[in-house]
Amino acid sequence: MQQTVLEQMQSMGHEQVVYCQDPHTGLNAIIAIHNTTLGPSLGGTRLWNYNTHEEALTDALRLSRGMTYKSAISGLNLGGGKAVLIGDASKLKCEAYWRRYGKFVNSLNGKYITAEDVNTSSIDMEYIGMETKFVTGKPEYMGGSGDPSPLTAYGVYMGMKAAAKKAWGSDSLSGKKILVQGAGNVGQYLMGHLVEEGAKLYICDINEAKLKQAKQKYPKVEVVDNKNIFDLDIDIYAPCALGATVNTESINKMKCPVIAGAANNQLADENIHGPMLVEKGIIYVPDFLINAGGIINISIEIDGYNYDRAINTVGKIYNRALDIFDIAEKENIHTQLAAMRMAEKRIKDIANIRVGI
Ligand code: NAD
Repeated sequence: MQQTVLEQMQSMGHEQVVYCQDPHTGLNAIIAIHNTTLGPSLGGTRLWNYNTHEEALTDALRLSRGMTYKSAISGLNLGGGKAVLIGDASKLKCEAYWRRYGKFVNSLNGKYITAEDVNTSSIDMEYIGMETKFVTGKPEYMGGSGDPSPLTAYGVYMGMKAAAKKAWGSDSLSGKKILVQGAGNVGQYLMGHLVEEGAKLYICDINEAKLKQAKQKYPKVEVVDNKNIFDLDIDIYAPCALGATVNTESINKMKCPVIAGAANNQLADENIHGPMLVEKGIIYVPDFLINAGGIINISIEIDGYNYDRAINTVGKIYNRALDIFDIAEKENIHTQLAAMRMAEKRIKDIANIRVGI
């Protein structure tokens, strides 16, 4: 039998889930607040044409919990939240729609701070910002941090260098054969760092236009067929497209010693595929640790954006990844589990120091 909303919240540890609807603009939203122990919940707003409301709720619950872990491990004083808007982006997006949504966000009095995500842009954040101050990722001309992708890519690059150090004793990526799956926003910025360092790049995407754009920017990259990527003889696999690409079938084929990429939820099932990677000797940089550059960047906007502070804070992903590799090795556990435990410990420790004056 299908669990009720409350039962799902109880099993995943959510504090609050808010449903919002407005017939005039066609807005249908679910705002999920997972945990606010460290601070207000921050997470993007995703606009997607979900098949069912249950599917939308599952996404909101799963993604908001992920944000709790991402902020906690990144040392941010923020909790985890996420909003999903249900419907067809091409039909719904307009000023009134975003402002109505902004009013709902405002009604939560800062317990949830929103940002960009799939199908939402910094321009949409500008409209939301007309109705609430609890919005980040605003355009640069409004004092915001703009597109988070360059900083996400920088964080992935630093996490990848840490993994290279663990695998080969040096963090140089010069001459390393790297497959970047997904030539989108993050993928292309990542390619820039890797090309500059002298890596040999293979790239794939389902969108021909994106491949063409990447090839124009970086003529030396080699475009490969999507279907046979795990047959390639590569050193590093960088998933920058979609989740669950690290699964039983792909791990069985993989020849690379390192996985380091931007996608969310890379392991199809962390309890199965985390240990499988350890068994195969593949170094995996936990997704919510390595792809936190974007959230770190927008979190800095809350106190007044400063690029130097943002890039330095994102750079800490390097040492954090090395720490996780050490803990995982010492405790004989997989890296995703080590990262989750580190995030949970920080939440517990900080909750504890807040007792008393
Ligand atoms: P994007 O939409 O700009 O790029 C994704 C690319 O992947 C697209 O070009 C798309 O065509 C391609 N793609 C989709 N399915 C594919 C497949 N089966 N095989 C190969 N390519 C495929 O997204 P983005 O902003 O670059 O983000 C990339 C990933 O990183 C996403 O999983 C996203 O959730 C995650 N992420 C992004 C950020 C950020 O700051 N943008 C932050 C954290 C995590």
